[in-house]
Amino acid sequence: VLILLGPPGAGKGTQARMLEERFGLVQLSTGDLLRAAVAQGTEAGKAAKAVMEAGDLVSDQIVIDILRDRLNADDCAKGVILDGFPRTIAQAAALEEACTSDAIGLSLYFTAPEAVLTDRLLSRGRQDDTLEVITHRLSVYAKTTEPLVKHYADQGLLREINSDRAVEDIQADVLTTVSGALNQSNIA
Ligand code: AMP
Repeated sequence: VLILLGPPGAGKGTQARMLEERFGLVQLSTGDLLRAAVAQGTEAGKAAKAVMEAGDLVSDQIVIDILRDRLNADDCAKGVILDGFPRTIAQAAALEEACTSDAIGLSLYFTAPEAVLTDRLLSRGRQDDTLEVITHRLSVYAKTTEPLVKHYADQGLLREINSDRAVEDIQADVLTTVSGALNQSNIA
């Protein structure tokens, strides 16, 4: 399991799709799964809609259930890229339970200055990308998700990627880092 960690706007989704193509891994974005649930009007989607629009985190229970549906033990073994999950320590613990712990091969940590992230999110112009919501999302990230950096660093699994660069440069760095890890271990 490859975890893409970092604030909104750091380019995790773009890199996840690139890695999926290059390495034949399955990429799972909990944001995409939740948006699909909202569009389908499922119970989880109904509960998540307003929370997402406000830029808050959907409850661990809902997100973990949605991810578990997609991530059975087989998928963990085959190799998945997680984009936007885990976002809380409780989610990280649930992931460690769902997969054998050594299945978590690497966590890429994307970083960029806050002003760069805000500009990118504003220009992306998705429904939850107003300035007010963006500012809130970044503060939720700093408070609730940022502690995961230490969680994975302590396990020796963290690799930092400078996201304040052209997308091709980020991609080259990601490829080198992931290829190196794949050669050394069973990241998939
Ligand atoms: P994203 O596309 O990853 O930026 O996610 C969009 C929105 O979905 C977030 O602002 C959250 O409201 C919600 N979301 C996505 N992933 C998670 C998660 N792992 N935990 C809680 N909420 C999430």
